[in-house]
Amino acid sequence: MSNANVVEIFSSAQGEGKFLGCRQVFVRLAGCNLNCNFCDTDFNRTEFCRVETSAGSMTFRDEKNPLDAAQVAELIKNFYDEVPTHSISFTGGEPLLHGEFIRDVAALTKNFNAKIFLETNGTLPDEFEKISDAIDFVSMDIKLPNVVGKNLFGVHEKFMRVAREKDLCVKIVVTGETSDDEFISAIEVVANVDEKIFVVLQPVTPVNGVSAVPAGKILAWQATALRRLKNVRVIPQTHKFINVL
Ligand code: SF4
Repeated sequence: MSNANVVEIFSSAQGEGKFLGCRQVFVRLAGCNLNCNFCDTDFNRTEFCRVETSAGSMTFRDEKNPLDAAQVAELIKNFYDEVPTHSISFTGGEPLLHGEFIRDVAALTKNFNAKIFLETNGTLPDEFEKISDAIDFVSMDIKLPNVVGKNLFGVHEKFMRVAREKDLCVKIVVTGETSDDEFISAIEVVANVDEKIFVVLQPVTPVNGVSAVPAGKILAWQATALRRLKNVRVIPQTHKFINVL
C-alpha cells in the first residue's frame, strides 16, 4: 500500500474551470516540479496533514504524515457520507508526483463510486499515462513562458495528446504580464491537438507583484482564441470571492 505526504483534505465547491461550483473532496498532495510566479499555494507542509473535521466546516485537525492510501480513502468516505459529492480532486503542488498513491486511493474509493478529478500542471505526461485508467476528469494548465521562465509548450502538447481521451479541460492563467505572442502560441498548441478541447482563460488573482489583466484585454484574447477553438470560456477563481477553501 503506497503512502504520500498530504497537505490537506477538505470538502468544498470547485472554484475554477469547467466544473466550477461542483462539490468535491480535495486532496492536496505535497511538492511541485514548477515554480510559477503567481503561485499562492502552500504545497510544502509535510509534517502534518490538516484534515477538515466535517465537510465544509473549515476547521481542522492534524494527521501525521505520510498518510497511506487506505487512511485517505477512509477520510474521503467520511466526507462522501456527509455530502453527495461530484468527485475527488487530487491537487497540489503537482499531484502526478504521487501517481501510484492516486491510483491506490482511486481503487479503494471505487466501492462508493467516487470519480477521480486530476488538477495538474500538465508537464508529466509519462506519469499520467501510468495511471490514466484511474482518472475520469483532467483539468490541466498550460503554463506560459513568462510564468515559469521557460517554454513548456512541447510537453504540454504531449500531455494533451494522452489526456484528451478523458474529460479534459485546459486552463490558461493570464496576467498583466502575458504577451500576445505567448498567448497565441498557447492557443496554437491546443488547436494542433484538437480544436474541441475545452479551454478556460482564467484572469490571474493578483499576488506576489503579478498584475491583473485589463478587462478589455481578456475579451480580446477570448476573441482570438475563439477563432481557432470551439469552446473558450473566461472564468476567474470564484472560491476567493466567497471566502471558501
Ligand atoms: S504548478 Fe501550481 S502548485 Fe506548482 S508552482 Fe505552479 S501554481 Fe504553484
